[in-house]
Amino acid sequence: MNDMQTGQAPVQTFDAIIIGAGMSGMYQLVRLRELGLSVRVLEAGTGVGGTWYWNRYPGARFDSESYSYQFSFSRELLDEWDWSEHFSSQPETLRYLNHVADKFDLRRDIQFSSRVTAAHYDDAMPGWTVTLDNGDSLQCRFLITAIGPLSAPTMPNIPGVETFQGRSCHTANWPHEPVSFEGKRVAVIGTGATGVQTIQEVAKTAKHLTVFQRTPNWCAPLHNSRISKAEMETIRANYPAMFQLCQETFSCFLHTADTRNTFDVSEEERLAFWEKLYASPGFGIWVGNFKDMLTNREANAAISEFVANKIRQRVKDPVVAEKLIPKNHGFGTRRVPMETRYYEVYNQDNVKLVDINETPIERITPTGIKTSDADYAFDIIIYATGFDAITGSFDRIDIRGTDGQKLKDRWRHGPETYLGVMVNGFPNMMMLMGPHMALGNIPRSIEHNVDWVTGLMRFAHDNRINRIEATADEVKAWTDHVKALGDGLLTFEVNSWMTGVNTNVEGKQVRIINRYAGSAPDYRARCDAVAASGYRELALA
Ligand code: NAP
Repeated sequence: MNDMQTGQAPVQTFDAIIIGAGMSGMYQLVRLRELGLSVRVLEAGTGVGGTWYWNRYPGARFDSESYSYQFSFSRELLDEWDWSEHFSSQPETLRYLNHVADKFDLRRDIQFSSRVTAAHYDDAMPGWTVTLDNGDSLQCRFLITAIGPLSAPTMPNIPGVETFQGRSCHTANWPHEPVSFEGKRVAVIGTGATGVQTIQEVAKTAKHLTVFQRTPNWCAPLHNSRISKAEMETIRANYPAMFQLCQETFSCFLHTADTRNTFDVSEEERLAFWEKLYASPGFGIWVGNFKDMLTNREANAAISEFVANKIRQRVKDPVVAEKLIPKNHGFGTRRVPMETRYYEVYNQDNVKLVDINETPIERITPTGIKTSDADYAFDIIIYATGFDAITGSFDRIDIRGTDGQKLKDRWRHGPETYLGVMVNGFPNMMMLMGPHMALGNIPRSIEHNVDWVTGLMRFAHDNRINRIEATADEVKAWTDHVKALGDGLLTFEVNSWMTGVNTNVEGKQVRIINRYAGSAPDYRARCDAVAASGYRELALA
């Protein structure tokens, strides 16, 4: 029986479906259109921007230099967009991404308010059937996931969350309308990069702010500033050199590790270097520090002590200062939150720090938060409690490959991938910024990742290839390689989203190596060699 007889609309079929209209999905759409393929992007939100669409929380902004974080693929785009700050705020970044969508007329191929709930592979097609939350289905030959490493927000597993009668919100689901804190008693749970940005902003206007901290993080000053028209022109004139530098550095940032080891230099020289880094804008103190900072325990202890002393100098109450100094991990072993007068917030009369290791949260109540020693009343509770990172956004979609095997089951003990892009048993599925990828300055990685996938799609198109699969041997080899790169790095000895640990998600309490810890140039070279060989490592049919 055909669709005419059943009265059902025919299932829409595309050469490729991209899940997600964040930066990677947007750029992948641009590139696949150039190949003349029919493409549909499925996006859960009502607009483009991904991370920058969802994370509208107060104070959200880039921690990487705005101009180094933008798309570089179009000179025209680079020429017409001016950044107003060295570290752009979320509203400006979202305006930029909407400008990109307008300029390249992207929205006509993006289906908004369409959350993908399932994607099942069928070898008879060969291709994928993708199901949306409204029950609709679409089909495609190639499925490209552009679902982001930090896009599955997690609420804390604290009893009573649903009973609170005031206003509450996870930072990644922040409302589109402004929220006023004026005259309000506000709680923030979580002190990662998001919590830090939120806290320093909310503290400016809230009647009272209580911060519930489980693990303090090592934060460093952002030193943001405005960009004048003249400065913008200078920055723009330097774009070719700047993007070239991003290609050469370890993590695609404008900063790269110093070639010296910590104890190669005198104490005086070391301290002067750290003072300079602490006073400089951006991630320099994290990724531009001595090269052994994350491999040599003594070196790591020394920089940790330097930053601890900064915290002691900035926070007036020594008891509070000690609570803000991490004791269970060294500087830089977790993502360093960048801050603007964050520590000074704790000198304000309207701010209180609650260390929930001393006085654990027992429950969220209808009126606030109950800890082991007090009942706090709040008007607003902000959950800055992070994400089920890297694999979480995959786990939330019922992805099934050949023989119905579930990706979630396959990755139960950690992701297994080929170049972070493919998985054997899941043919014709390509992942953008998936597990085992170099993260770093993400748009730089996105552009390479998308260009590589586009090259593969072009090759498939030109050679009439309908089925692409990574082999089991190559997946094992890449997964082993990624694991080996993590060996000896202090980063992988610490619980964080970067090691796959999330106390709020069942089954994610064990550390894994879920991201590529080698250099971005090495990663690109490996991928480019595969392309140059005619993708010989892949099973193509
Ligand atoms: P996060 O770093 O995972 O921090 C989550 C925070 O919530 C942690 O302090 C965590 O404590 C706390 N928490 C989680 N569950 C809890 C519970 N049940 N009870 C009490 N506390 C709980 O998440 P994030 O701050 O959203 O940042 C994630 C990543 O997003 C960053 O590392 C960064 O890569 C990215 N980001 C980037 C920017 C930027 O570029 N500008 C800004 C924000 C975020 P524990 O540490 O004890 O688990």
